[in-house]
Amino acid sequence: MKTYRIAAIPGDGIGTEVVDAGVEVLKALAKRDGNFAFQFDHFDWGGEYYKKHGRMMPEDGRAQIKTHDAILFGSAGHPDIPDHITLWGLRLAICQPFDQYANVRPTRILPGIVSPLRKVNGPELDWVIVRENSEGEYSGVGGRVHQGLPIEAATDVSMMTRAGVSRIIRFAFKLAQSRPRKLLTVVTKSNAQRYAMVMWDEVAAEVAQGFPDVTWDKMIVDAMTMRMVLKPESIDTVVATNLHADILSDLAAALAGSLGIAPTANLNPEREFPSMFEPIHGSAFDIMGKGIANPVGTFWSAVMMLEHLGEKPAADRLMKAIERVTADPALHTPDLGGKANTRMVTDAVIGAIAAENA
Ligand code: ATP
Repeated sequence: MKTYRIAAIPGDGIGTEVVDAGVEVLKALAKRDGNFAFQFDHFDWGGEYYKKHGRMMPEDGRAQIKTHDAILFGSAGHPDIPDHITLWGLRLAICQPFDQYANVRPTRILPGIVSPLRKVNGPELDWVIVRENSEGEYSGVGGRVHQGLPIEAATDVSMMTRAGVSRIIRFAFKLAQSRPRKLLTVVTKSNAQRYAMVMWDEVAAEVAQGFPDVTWDKMIVDAMTMRMVLKPESIDTVVATNLHADILSDLAAALAGSLGIAPTANLNPEREFPSMFEPIHGSAFDIMGKGIANPVGTFWSAVMMLEHLGEKPAADRLMKAIERVTADPALHTPDLGGKANTRMVTDAVIGAIAAENA
């Protein structure tokens, strides 16, 4: 029997609550399946770790998780620590050296969930956003001089490479090709940014030639926000830069009902390093410790992890269990306008997994 070694990094805030729930659900799923098992190794890295040790993860942290089959991540963020330290110290410190360059964010309106968009109730909104996850606006190139003085200057340079752009655009075309509609929108800002974004457009046109069966179009990012709201049915697969896709996917999550539902996979498609799966949402300190965090985003991320591990039947079973639970408004957490809590949703998903015909 195959045993998958999973590094569980709950991080901060509600990250710990939703990852605990995710681990429980995955254990129940392995038990129900019987053909594979999980070994979870827990790592207490994050804001509290930083307060004790002055860093978000140990110096050899990456070496500790390098040979795991996958990483299940919660959230990094702490009210007492600047966000750029928590982000760069943990999440980006794993994503970038592990070359998880493809960040994949599916959005769907799950059964029982109401979109804030009028007249949109399901089939009109079924998207996958592919976020470039290794360079661009998050390449970390820049600096500050004369800090605090009136002459202070600061830069964040968006660095794009032909290799980096080519591989993410190719990944997105392949993904679009694998979906029924074979439809891709390449998001850009080449009207205002006339170097890297123009190269992005050129590479997209070149890569497109290898995918004659994929219909694709190009959209300026600001116009894309309007299209997502006004013509959601015209969109299927989307590829965008690190920053653009970060923003668009939060909008997508909100349009699908709640930030608490949306999942993410940070993939190293070549499988040279472990890939990382996490809910889109952050640490949500406003609801931390109340037991009301919606665990669905983490469960859906676990579905993506199972697909990546090649356990498709188990992935499908978990997705079906999630959809059964969201279909019942009595099992909605407060972010969806309901009164249920994390425990109730977790137990209901575990119950649906165990159900004979699940
Ligand atoms: P961070 O800086 O770590 O991204 P944040 O507080 O800025 O954190 P989120 O944590 O994503 O951003 O939260 C934004 C809002 O959405 C908060 O009001 C939070 O309570 C709510 N929210 C986010 N995730 C969930 C969830 N899983 N369940 C319920 N509400 C959630």
